[in-house]
Amino acid sequence: MKDKSIIRSCKALAERACANFSNRYCLPEDRACHLINARYPDIHDGAIDCDYFITAVLPSDKALHRLVLSRLFDAGECTPAYTCACVRCGQRYAPASPRQKYCASCGAVMRQQRNREKQRRHRERKRQEGSAASNTMIAKETKPGGDPYRKHQNG
Ligand SMILES: [Zn+2]
Repeated sequence: MKDKSIIRSCKALAERACANFSNRYCLPEDRACHLINARYPDIHDGAIDCDYFITAVLPSDKALHRLVLSRLFDAGECTPAYTCACVRCGQRYAPASPRQKYCASCGAVMRQQRNREKQRRHRERKRQEGSAASNTMIAKETKPGGDPYRKHQNG
């Protein structure tokens, strides 16, 4: 992930979660929010210039926290050990395991889809078993192309 987009995420997080942030103002310091130091383009050089944000606000977003820390303490280019791109939405995220393919929100969606898919296959198998056993019964019991989310009556 480029620093620019990390910085953008940090700004968004500050607006959302920083207790000192009010209308682009830093309340305790009575001046414009100094979260981003425009003189430094890179996080590693000090673009994120608010200790309060880094210590108190940033940890509430674990993925972003890791990203920023990885940039602060690692001068190298984008660190693949810390982030990968979600194969569904392309967003960078910090994977919890090397096999993780989706960001957190897509992961939840995909899990749901997989469950539905599994249930659908299960229903289809049941239907085929039924049709092999009795051809007369399925004519009444199954509607091809029926609602795939209908709960199976035979459990
Ligand atoms: Zn995603």
